[in-house]
Amino acid sequence: MPHVFEIVAKDGAGRVGKLHTSHGVVETPAFVPVINPHLPVVSLDDLKKLGFDLFITNAYLIYKDEKLRELVLRKGIHGAFNWDKAIMTDSGAFQLMVYGDVEVSNLEIIDFQSKIGVDIGVILDIPIYKGSIDYRKRFIDETIRRAKEAYEAGYVTEDSKTIWVGPIHGVPYPSLLEYSVEHMTKYPFSMYAVGSIVPLMESYQLIQLIKSAVIVKSRLPTNYPVHLFGAGHPAMFALFVLVGFDTFDSAAYALYAKDNRYLTPYGTYHLKELRYFPCDCPICTTYTPQELLSMDSMHRQHLLAMHNLYVAQAEIRRIKQAIHEGTLWQLVAKRASSHPEIARAYKWLLDKRNLRAYNLFEELEPAFKNRGLMITRDEELYLPVVRRYRDRIFERILIWSDKVIISTPEGSNDLPSLLGAQVLIINPVFYIIPREIRNAYPLFQHMSPYTGINENALEFVRKFIEYLMEKGVEEIYVYDTREDNARKIAEKLGVSEIYEGQDVGILSQEKEELLRVKAFLRYQFGPGAEDVIEKAEIEYSPSTGRPRKIFAADITQEEIENVIIPEIEKHVEKRKKLGKPVPEDPFKEMFIEKGRIWLLAAIAPTYFKLVPHPLLAYRMWKKFRDELRYTVVVNKEAEPFVRAGRTIFSKFIIELDDNIRANDEVFVLNEEKDLIAYGRAIISAREMRDFKRGAAIENRWGFRER
Ligand SMILES: [Zn+2]
Repeated sequence: MPHVFEIVAKDGAGRVGKLHTSHGVVETPAFVPVINPHLPVVSLDDLKKLGFDLFITNAYLIYKDEKLRELVLRKGIHGAFNWDKAIMTDSGAFQLMVYGDVEVSNLEIIDFQSKIGVDIGVILDIPIYKGSIDYRKRFIDETIRRAKEAYEAGYVTEDSKTIWVGPIHGVPYPSLLEYSVEHMTKYPFSMYAVGSIVPLMESYQLIQLIKSAVIVKSRLPTNYPVHLFGAGHPAMFALFVLVGFDTFDSAAYALYAKDNRYLTPYGTYHLKELRYFPCDCPICTTYTPQELLSMDSMHRQHLLAMHNLYVAQAEIRRIKQAIHEGTLWQLVAKRASSHPEIARAYKWLLDKRNLRAYNLFEELEPAFKNRGLMITRDEELYLPVVRRYRDRIFERILIWSDKVIISTPEGSNDLPSLLGAQVLIINPVFYIIPREIRNAYPLFQHMSPYTGINENALEFVRKFIEYLMEKGVEEIYVYDTREDNARKIAEKLGVSEIYEGQDVGILSQEKEELLRVKAFLRYQFGPGAEDVIEKAEIEYSPSTGRPRKIFAADITQEEIENVIIPEIEKHVEKRKKLGKPVPEDPFKEMFIEKGRIWLLAAIAPTYFKLVPHPLLAYRMWKKFRDELRYTVVVNKEAEPFVRAGRTIFSKFIIELDDNIRANDEVFVLNEEKDLIAYGRAIISAREMRDFKRGAAIENRWGFRER
């Protein structure tokens, strides 16, 4: 079963996904509770009530218990447990660690898992917790040998019904982890897992695990779901998901309950410490801490375990919501404030010198998000979207004047809007913001506690000034509403003149709108995209005053034939179908009488980006079809479906631009390089290459064959 996973939404390296098992779909990220087959602290009915679609139990413990073994072999594991959803089993690796040896061979336990019909099974790997690199490598080699054995014996195959998990070991050594990934991916596992982490968890060395995760996720193809063995506390879940774990199992909910410990997403309490329950679950709204303490211990343990599971599930829902709205980094920041080790890992991920993490997130972080950026901590000045902006702005700024005014934020509101000089705003987060694109993501509606101009911003602006001069800018001024402040900043930047109303020329309204559109196009689609329009009209929202729609006023005869008439035809047909009145001469009414303008793009009120309409797609295609800028090519098989407006699936994509990131607007061509559709990327280029299952692009518009 090699292709069992697809992505629905993503943020950071985390994803909301669908894991397809023989017993239904498991939505990920998922917390997978460990069920002890002998002494379950909660019943499987309880798990169902709590909304779990998957639990994990131990195949080795079942195997060793003669009565239980006989039962599961006879009824299958689902029948024996009376559970119709997915079941994962571990192979005994944990017992191997605790007792040093297990009385079962690799092939025996694989065969057993296969016979009893588990949905997700694990080969008998060897956890490693100590020793030199050479010593550890020998155990990794043995796990690899067992993977090969499982493959050669016909268990781990392309079409096995079981999802076999390939365990990756070597934490925390990069060379070992890379070695393990390289060799384990030679066999057709459909899922991978990171193991040997229990000692790190117990000694709270979370940072080692996160560093290891970044190495594994950088090397492992993105289309595999990745499991984490023995991941403890709900406070860490958001961090695990951020670095790309899709499922994680733990018995902590039950073990903690045994010790009268009460989990929250921000830490743990002993029941004795609680006067009140800070939770709304059915347990916490029915009992008080004192009532729980006076119960018999079995009953108390059960109720505490139930509460702990409610908390875990609620945190998973919070994480999934955060991924959909693009606020996963912020959720992790919240959790970071509850434990220094989470804070340390979070800080490490955003350390500007940390290229490994930077490269991983650069490939996987979406290009646009639903929400304005909210910055609350210093390390967030290096969030991937912020760094990406600073890296790109050199190339993507439209320089349209040889005169530049560098202004403070206060100053920029004060400067007239039609100045013939280009206004660049100094900003404590992004360092420099060209005024024309301040409504674009991530600039628009971003918030931070920083005011004024910091040293990092000054250094960046000095570099930017050098760049502007290389590009032919001749006059540079500094402006602030307070003249003395402007002089101070000018001095720090090495600029000799402040702006005091010198004649820099005045733009016409028309020219100003055109420049704004061009700047936006270049910012979103890269250099050269500004050339696709020479006359524009902007429609503003009457309520907010912000640009809402962009019209082209430079329509060519060729575009009338290839875009506008077909669009009008499509429109008329749609109205007819709906039984609505149709214009007598639609071309005249919809084009000539409107002033020969046509909709080019809309500005999305949520993502703060340009959403192309057919005309922009057509112009981008004419300009960039050879270099495939923000473009994918699909095969013949998919073409009719894509033209009909259906979702574009990864497996049909045969060529693509490696710069595509989730939520970018992209263009879709057929094998002959004709434009057949455009839409929103759901995943990034790296994922489009890896995935053979699931959606890649949400289709906004399919072009009919002509
Ligand atoms: Zn509760």
